[in-house]
Amino acid sequence: MSHPFHTNEQGHLVVGGVDTIDLTKKYGTPLFVYDVSLIRKNARAFVNTFKKAGVRAQVAYASKAFSSIAMLQVAKQENLSLDVVSQGELYTALQAGFPVDRIHLHGNNKSFEELSMAVQHNIGCIVLDNFYEIELLSEILEKHDKTMDVLLRVTPGIEAHTHDYILTGNEDSKFGFDLANGQAEQAFEMLQEIDSIHVIGLHCHIGSQIFETDGFVMAVRRLFETLGEWKQAYGYRSQVLNLGGGFGIRYTAEDEPLPLGGYVDALVEEVQKQVELYGMEFPEIWIEPGRAIVGNTAVTLYRTGSIKDIPGVRKYVSVDGGMTDNLRPALYQAKYDAVIANKADAALTEKVSIAGKCCESGDMLIWDMEVPEVEYGDILAVFSTGAYGYSMSNHYNRFPKAAVVFAEQGEDQLVIQRESYEDLTRNDLPYDIKERV
Ligand SMILES: *Cc1c(COP(=O)(O)O)cnc(C)c1O
Repeated sequence: MSHPFHTNEQGHLVVGGVDTIDLTKKYGTPLFVYDVSLIRKNARAFVNTFKKAGVRAQVAYASKAFSSIAMLQVAKQENLSLDVVSQGELYTALQAGFPVDRIHLHGNNKSFEELSMAVQHNIGCIVLDNFYEIELLSEILEKHDKTMDVLLRVTPGIEAHTHDYILTGNEDSKFGFDLANGQAEQAFEMLQEIDSIHVIGLHCHIGSQIFETDGFVMAVRRLFETLGEWKQAYGYRSQVLNLGGGFGIRYTAEDEPLPLGGYVDALVEEVQKQVELYGMEFPEIWIEPGRAIVGNTAVTLYRTGSIKDIPGVRKYVSVDGGMTDNLRPALYQAKYDAVIANKADAALTEKVSIAGKCCESGDMLIWDMEVPEVEYGDILAVFSTGAYGYSMSNHYNRFPKAAVVFAEQGEDQLVIQRESYEDLTRNDLPYDIKERV
């Protein structure tokens, strides 16, 4: 089975102990429903595996995957740290009362305002990405008479694709300082001259939706090669090694991710080897899972509408959402699995394709899916929409954004309201029409 949920006596899909059909009656559709106990379970799989290994660690939730006040409250409660990439994400974290010392700021084009906000709020760490930021940050720190811990984001020349890794020499990436061409070392040297900035270690992030550990192991080796050189040349000791996110999850039955702790075990094992090889102290390890914390914990509930059977070609079933609440299929042909939530136990008798309702033929959620007989007004539940679903949602065709519900142990709570039409025009201003000849 490609999802962690079950069905009740009425044959309805249950999420977080709550009947999803009841939820659609209460909150409407499209609706994101998160099983909060699964968020906790995923978070603990990472945190506890580090604990068991006796390794100091921070598990920083990449909040771009799904950021809201309620979500960040749960992340805080589960002792996660937090990655933010913008003032909006930082603002949300502050509103949620997230401990500032566990917030890290990322981004390949951090603005003066973003860096200033991070400095003013004393966040834990800034991940420096480019030379421009070094100057900007040192100016801002001087102005505020403060210091800041930073990691240097480096590109190790490893591109992880779901099942294979490409070793490149000079990496062609908009993120980070390249290791191979010496720019990372040049940045490090520059930073040695700036007293207000403390380079506590290195960061790399090799990709997303990765199912194997080899890429991470290669990245650890590459980082230690560099740290070995910097130890010799500058007597540098890295306190922190941040190995990024990208841990794969199951979207369809074809995906076979490792248990989350398995990624941690592989990282810890390789760091241990390298530490011995180079005669270094074991650093604190940071990781940055986004998708692996929330991805499999939510479903999106839609109501089915028009059904178009084109004989000998295909049967289209349209739902009341689409690329506005789940951009991933249109953006990169992402695959999803789903079930008719009000007939979750019924035998599968036909094959249909699920269409969104936007004016784009690319707005398809699922191609060729097996279903029981679908009728107008059924509820479709798409699995594994917890990451990069709501967070990428948009206003194309002026559809209001969906609502989000948290369900846990049989109780449900609205945590993001459905947008209203007034919300859609809230920032619109009328044009002062004058007679123009
Ligand atoms: C996107 C991103 C992550 C999270 O990626 P997931 O695939 O959601 O785990 C972590 N770190 C960085 C730097 C990222 O850009």
